[in-house]
Amino acid sequence: MTTFSSQKAARLAPQLSATQQKIQAARLAQAVPCLAEAYAEALARWLGDPVLRLAGRPIITECYRSPERQEELYAQGRSKPGTIVTYKRGGQSNHNLRPTPALDVAFVLADASVSWSGLLLSKFARLMKAADARVIWGGDWVTFKDRPHFEVTTTQKGGVACG
Ligand SMILES: [Zn+2]
Repeated sequence: MTTFSSQKAARLAPQLSATQQKIQAARLAQAVPCLAEAYAEALARWLGDPVLRLAGRPIITECYRSPERQEELYAQGRSKPGTIVTYKRGGQSNHNLRPTPALDVAFVLADASVSWSGLLLSKFARLMKAADARVIWGGDWVTFKDRPHFEVTTTQKGGVACG
């Protein structure tokens, strides 16, 4: 059973450049500690799985988001073209808090494209929730499924706590 060696698998697995890794670290540093730890653990488990690591490399597409950018996203599908991606106005989203109790995930594939595969996101969500029971996955929401979105419960707006 050595026809598919781990070296070959490592070559085929999607990789991030040094710059991309730096960006990932900077985004992760914006997250509240318990969310950052859950992500780091889920990522480590993902990369440690020979099948999952070939399927795609999880990335944080966004963690902190300025209220101005939130307003731009809110306009999408309303006053601007596109589909609706958020129901939160600037300042209302957990992404607008600092440190940030929310982050959005996607996957880099072997051909360097970015995927928001619902299947991959649901597999990653399982690892996130296993890492920390406080993690809430947007894919579990009934009214507006937001599969790339993960967050931890916050005690109050502006007073983010992991406890
Ligand atoms: Zn989000």
